[in-house]
Amino acid sequence: MDKLAIVVPCYNEEEVLEIASKALREVLDNLVKKQKIAEDSFILFVNDGSKDKTWELIEKEHKEHPVTVRGVKLAGNVGHQFALTAGLITAKDMSDVTISIDADLQDDVNVIEEMIDKFHQGNDIVYGVRKERKTDTFFKRVTAQGFYKLMAMMGVKTVYNHADFRLMSKRAVEAFSQYKETNLFLRGMMPLIGYQTDCVYYDRLERVAGTSKYPLSKMLALAFNGISSFSVKPITFVTVLGFVILFCSILAAIYAFVSYFCGTVVPGWTSLILSIWFLGGVQLVSIGLVGQYIGKIYIEVKQRPRYNIEKVLDVEEE
Ligand code: UDP
Ligand code: MG
Repeated sequence: MDKLAIVVPCYNEEEVLEIASKALREVLDNLVKKQKIAEDSFILFVNDGSKDKTWELIEKEHKEHPVTVRGVKLAGNVGHQFALTAGLITAKDMSDVTISIDADLQDDVNVIEEMIDKFHQGNDIVYGVRKERKTDTFFKRVTAQGFYKLMAMMGVKTVYNHADFRLMSKRAVEAFSQYKETNLFLRGMMPLIGYQTDCVYYDRLERVAGTSKYPLSKMLALAFNGISSFSVKPITFVTVLGFVILFCSILAAIYAFVSYFCGTVVPGWTSLILSIWFLGGVQLVSIGLVGQYIGKIYIEVKQRPRYNIEKVLDVEEE
């Protein structure tokens, strides 16, 4: 029977912690009863340097339910993506399969069973995908959806409308732990791992208590980090723009010469206008070229694994 670890990053979540713990324990109990997961499956709360009583509450829950509730205390606040990574990598050595979910229960805990079913059908990653965003404000909905589209335009593969509610098998987390980059954008990294994946769909709910820990500034930082950690397209854009301007300089040259020979120009205008367009183009192309090399350095320093082997068919040794 597979041992499940539910990883929950928590930052100042004292209002929701006990509610979340109770709801998730019920889910675990139910799955154990249905013999879908091992009896010693557990919830792993990751305290991301909370300033309130979150950690005390985790300790209390652990005392009451020593097997089912466990905790990791990070030394300081490192942000959602790092806290989640810490939780996943810690849980990997204690379990066979992990599910990550936010503490506020905005993601529907009732689809966890379906995730486990899909895991048993042979999927290594199961993404939780929001059907609709009825409960989000208009602003959040529009910015979030614009973000997914922008990512796609930049050539970054992400699962549309999937946040960080997902199931990962032990070997998927193992593969993920090989990605040593520090600028984490988990949603972009998971599709790089490979393996068979599937999605489950759910309606995003309201936060059960407390307020969002993701203000606009953090959301923008996440979006910018997502693009700048995954795509060198902006650099290519500069190069292309440079060539376009060089081409325009040819048109400008023709126009300038025609005007010059028709004798309708102020002295000095022709050479000035030609230099502006031509030099502008040359400069942009040069910056773009330098950028291409920086882009390569950026990809190299990530030292991402180049591949991830799923199976090898070989003659068995005696
Ligand atoms: N979180 C965290 N560290 C932070 C900020 C947030 O671990 O620095 C956790 C938070 O406790 C929650 C999850 O990340 O479990 C998502 O945060 P929230 O629900 O506030 O984001 P929203 O749903 O509003 O985008
Ligand atoms: Mg939330």
